[in-house]
Amino acid sequence: MGRYKPIIGLEIHVQLSTRTKAFCNCPADVFELEPNTAICPVCTGQPGALPVPSLEMFELGVKLATALNCKINEYSRFDRKNYFYPDLPKGYQITQFFYPLAEYGWLMVNGKKIRIRRIHLEEDAGKLLHAGDSITEAEYSLVDMNRCGIPLAEIVTEPDIESPEEARIFMEKLRTILRYIGVSSGDMEKGALRCDANISVVDTETGRQSNKVEVKNMNSFKFVEKALEYEFERIVNLMEKGEPVERETRGWNLSTKTTVSMRSKEEAHDYRYFPEPDIPPVILSREFIENVQKSIGELPDQRVERFVREYALSEKEANILVEDKAIADFFEDVVKRTNDPKETANWFLTEYFRLIGEHGTEKLKVTAETFVELFELIKKGTISRNMAKEIFQESSLSGKSPKLIVEEKGLKQIDDVGELEKIVVRVLEANPQQVEAFKKGKEGLFSFFVGQVMKETKGKANPKTVTEILNKHLRGS
Ligand SMILES: [Zn+2]
Repeated sequence: MGRYKPIIGLEIHVQLSTRTKAFCNCPADVFELEPNTAICPVCTGQPGALPVPSLEMFELGVKLATALNCKINEYSRFDRKNYFYPDLPKGYQITQFFYPLAEYGWLMVNGKKIRIRRIHLEEDAGKLLHAGDSITEAEYSLVDMNRCGIPLAEIVTEPDIESPEEARIFMEKLRTILRYIGVSSGDMEKGALRCDANISVVDTETGRQSNKVEVKNMNSFKFVEKALEYEFERIVNLMEKGEPVERETRGWNLSTKTTVSMRSKEEAHDYRYFPEPDIPPVILSREFIENVQKSIGELPDQRVERFVREYALSEKEANILVEDKAIADFFEDVVKRTNDPKETANWFLTEYFRLIGEHGTEKLKVTAETFVELFELIKKGTISRNMAKEIFQESSLSGKSPKLIVEEKGLKQIDDVGELEKIVVRVLEANPQQVEAFKKGKEGLFSFFVGQVMKETKGKANPKTVTEILNKHLRGS
C-alpha cells in the first residue's frame, strides 16, 4: 500500500429466516410471490393495526449476535423512523435506534479483529417500482408491499476494514456463519444479504482524511470489492488534485463498472424518530438468551480448529472444507466410514471440488459409499490411482458404484507377474535400439519402456510390478 490508505466500514442487512414477518403473521419468504399477495393491515401500516414482535426474530437475532461475539442487551426498544424516500411506501419503518439488540462484537478476518458496533432488528420497508429508467422521469410507480415487515438484522461495523479485499472476505465469512447457524439464507442475489459500505481515505504523509462516501447497490461479493476499489481510486485522484471529496451516497453501476452519485448524504437528524407507540419495550430474560445460545452449535471457526486437531489437517485445508456446511457435514460422514481423514481430505480438495466446479453440487451423485469402495479398490491394488480418478468422475456423474464400473469396463489392474512379464519382453523386443541406448547409459529411457507397457495394457498394468520386471530385464536386478 502506498501513501493513501482506505478506511472502510460496513452496514449489512441480513434477512432473518423466520417463518412470519417481524410484527404480523404474513409469510416472510416472499421472493417468488406475486406483488401484494403477502400483506395485511399490520405490515402495511394501516391505522389501528397492532404490531406484535415475533419471538423467532429475537431468537435468530440473539443467535447472530452471539456468533458475532456481541454483548446482548436485555432491554431493547423499537422506534418509528420517519422519512421521505421513494423506497418507503409505508411512510415509516420500525427499527431499533436508541436501544439495539446487541453491541460491541467482533469477527476475526485473516487473524484480525473487525469490531462490530451494533446489531439492531428492524423491518424491511418494502419497495416501489418506477416505470422506465429513472425515478425522476417515471410516468408512474408501482407499489409492492410484500417486503414490508420482513425481519432484518442490521450489522454495523466499526471502520476497521483496511482494504476492499478485506471487505469482501468479511462478507464471505459472515455468510458462512449465517448459514451455519441457520439465521439467514445469506443469498445476496435474492436480497437476503445486502451491504452498504462507507469509505474515506487517509493521506498517511499529511494525516489528512477525506470525507466519507457511502456506496450502495453492491449485490455480490465481487462487486463489494470492485466498487470499493473504484471508489478508493476516485477519492485518491481527487485528493491528489486538491479537489474536494463530497460527502454523498453513490451507487455501483454494473454496466459501466463505476460508482455514480445518487444523493448527498442525509444526516441522522434528517430522520424523525419517536418511540413506536404500539410496541412496548422488549425485555429478554437471561434464561431466554442462554437457552438460545445453547442451541447455536458449532461455529465455522470452531470447526476449523477441530478439523486441524482431530483429523490432522492443515488450517488451510480445514478452512476450505468447512466453508460450506453441507460439504463439511458430508466430509465428516465420509471420514467416519473410511477412517482415513487425510486421504479423504485429499480426494475432497482435489477431485471432488474439481467436479463441483465443473458440474455443480446438484448434479453430482457422490455418496459416502463411493469413497469407501474407491478406497478399497485402491488399497487392494485392483485399480491404479490414475484409474481411480477416472472411475470417481464417472461414478459421481452416473451414480454407478465404482466396483460396478470396474467390472463393466474390465478395468482391473493387471498385477499378474507372468502376464506382465510377457508384455515387457514383447516391448523390449520391439525396441532394440532403445534397449541398446539404455544399456549404454541413457537412463532416461526407463520411463519410455514403462510408457510402452502402459500403452499395451491400456493403462491397466500395475506400475510397481512393471518397474520390477523392467529392472530385472534391463539391469539384471
Ligand atoms: Zn402482515
